[in-house]
Amino acid sequence: RGSCASDSSDSVISTGSEAESQVYKVVLLGEHGVGKSSLARVFGGVEDAGHDCDEAGNTYDRSIVVDEEESSIVLYDIWEQDNSQWLKEQCMRMGDAYIIVYSVTDKCSFEKASELRIQLRRARQSENIPIILVGNKSDLVRSREVSVDEGSACAVVFDCKFIETSASLHHNVQDLFEGIVRQIRLRKDSKEE
Ligand code: GDP
Ligand code: MG
Repeated sequence: RGSCASDSSDSVISTGSEAESQVYKVVLLGEHGVGKSSLARVFGGVEDAGHDCDEAGNTYDRSIVVDEEESSIVLYDIWEQDNSQWLKEQCMRMGDAYIIVYSVTDKCSFEKASELRIQLRRARQSENIPIILVGNKSDLVRSREVSVDEGSACAVVFDCKFIETSASLHHNVQDLFEGIVRQIRLRKDSKEE
C-alpha cells in the first residue's frame, strides 16, 4: 500500500468537489533565506503578523482551480526543519513535484539551486518529475545578483520551468502554483495508458 503520512487533509480541503480530485505533494527546496517559507505562506493564505512560526517546518493544504479543474496541493516547507540526512532524503523521495528556490539577490543560493537539481536527478533517476526553478525577491531591484537571463538559461540546462517571483509583493506566486499543477497534470496524462 502506497500512501502514508497524509492524515487530516479531508477536513481542510473544500467542500463540493468531485470525490476523486487528486492530492499532489509539492516540496520546496532551496538555501536558507531565499523565501521558501514566505512563498509557502502566500500560497497557504497565511498573512503573518509577526514571524514566530518561522523556524519550524510547515505544511500547507489547499485546493486550487486550474483550467476549470480542481486539484489539491499539499505544500511541504520542511527542507530546513532539521539537519538530518534522513529528512533530506525523505524530501527528495516524497514529492510529486518540486519548487527549487533561489534569491535573485544571492548568487550563492543560485549555485546551490544547481546542486539541488543534481541531487534530485540522482535520487529520482528514471522519473521525469516536474520541477520549477524560482528566482524569488524580484522586487529587490537594486541588490539583484542574478539576471533573468541567467535564471532562464539555467532552467534550460535543468530541463525545467522557470519563473521569477516576489513573495513580498505576491507577484507571480499564483502563477507559480498554477504552473506546478499544469506540469503535474501533463506528466500524469502522458504516463496514463
Ligand atoms: P526561507 O529561509 O527560505 O524560508 O526564507 P524566508 O521565507 O524565511 O525569508 C527570508 C527573508 O527574506 C525574510 O526576511 C523575508 O521577509 C524575506 N523575503 C522573502 N521573500 C521575499 C521577497 O520576495 N522580497 C523581499 N524583499 N524579501 C523577501
Ligand atoms: Mg523557512
